[in-house]
Amino acid sequence: MATPAEARVDLAAVRHNVALLKERAGGAELMGAVKADAYGHGLAPTSRAVLEGGASRLGTAFIGEALDLRAAGVTAPILSWLITPGEPLDEALAAGVELSAADVRLLDEIAAAARRAGRPAQVHLEADTGMSRGGAPLAAWPELLTRARELRAEGVVEVVGLWSHFACADIPGHPSIDRQLETYRTALKLAEQAGLAGSHVIRHLANSAAAMTLPDARFDLVRCGIAMYGLSPIPEQGDFGLRPAMTLVARIAQAKRVTESSGVSYGHLYVTDRETTLGLVPLGYADGILRHATGRAEVLAGGRRRVIAGRVCMDQFVIDMGDDPLAAGDEVVLFGPGDRGEPTAQEWADTLGTITHEIVTRIGARVPRVHQNVTQGISQRA
Ligand SMILES: *Cc1c(COP(=O)(O)O)cnc(C)c1O
Repeated sequence: MATPAEARVDLAAVRHNVALLKERAGGAELMGAVKADAYGHGLAPTSRAVLEGGASRLGTAFIGEALDLRAAGVTAPILSWLITPGEPLDEALAAGVELSAADVRLLDEIAAAARRAGRPAQVHLEADTGMSRGGAPLAAWPELLTRARELRAEGVVEVVGLWSHFACADIPGHPSIDRQLETYRTALKLAEQAGLAGSHVIRHLANSAAAMTLPDARFDLVRCGIAMYGLSPIPEQGDFGLRPAMTLVARIAQAKRVTESSGVSYGHLYVTDRETTLGLVPLGYADGILRHATGRAEVLAGGRRRVIAGRVCMDQFVIDMGDDPLAAGDEVVLFGPGDRGEPTAQEWADTLGTITHEIVTRIGARVPRVHQNVTQGISQRA
């Protein structure tokens, strides 16, 4: 390791997790959610592992992310589901990217691009079944179906998917879960009556939490993100046999003896209570180490857990190493699978009052992703 820090991504773990999810999904297809740089794990190498592990499709939030995958040579079906007016739909269609539409305005914009391209757009219609985020509310769903039918008759739109998203699948027993399932079934029935359902149309509702715990929600395909990366979709229910793929490490940039009563970092929030050795860790809030981790989160150095001493700065933070024989260049593990006694991303999330999604996606672009077990024992920088 010649860089100050790196995020090691174990692609064998990704493949293991995807295979486990596929098994849990019964006969359903698996779409790997690889938005946000594959949840911070590195888009192209991780997506390839996701496909090798048994996913048949990929999903991104933005069209740009799907185009990045195509540019990297990924040919699997890709769906992009978060589209704003004026985006490069022509490029998306030329790249064979499937698009989600939740209102007539966007569907018409997609249809216009398809007319220019001289080929039909493949569209997944999104119903809002109770999350009130994206999607057509049930009241607007029939209008969307009608327009989709007209555009299909014109030959510019093919409806290939009907989908929605859970608000509370990670809260087992939440009353909204059954209500959303019921509303989704109603939306499917309306689509069927409009002649827009059938064996060629993929029905999908479940995220990782639902794929793991709600067999009724699997339909034709499950869309999984967090679990593929080995992080539990429902931490209260354990790890489901998943294996965390990312290990975030840094090397100590400077180690030095300081006297008792030395104030450490901005604001002197930490003051040494004895003569001690401080270690400078070259990762900061610009790299996704939340400033809120100040004095809270732990790292592993020299075989022992140490709480971040004082303020997390933009590029660096300090740890108190006592009299332990640690030196510049020694490795500090912020989080990983936990095998060596290091904290996990789940511990970081719990400590910081957030979810693991935020811990891993915030790791900044300055931190190289180093992919391990790319195929068989080969490691590669992305
Ligand atoms: C991110 C996302 C997913 C994956 O969610 P996880 O909880 O990470 O499994 C699925 N569907 C949509 C629409 C998403 O935005």
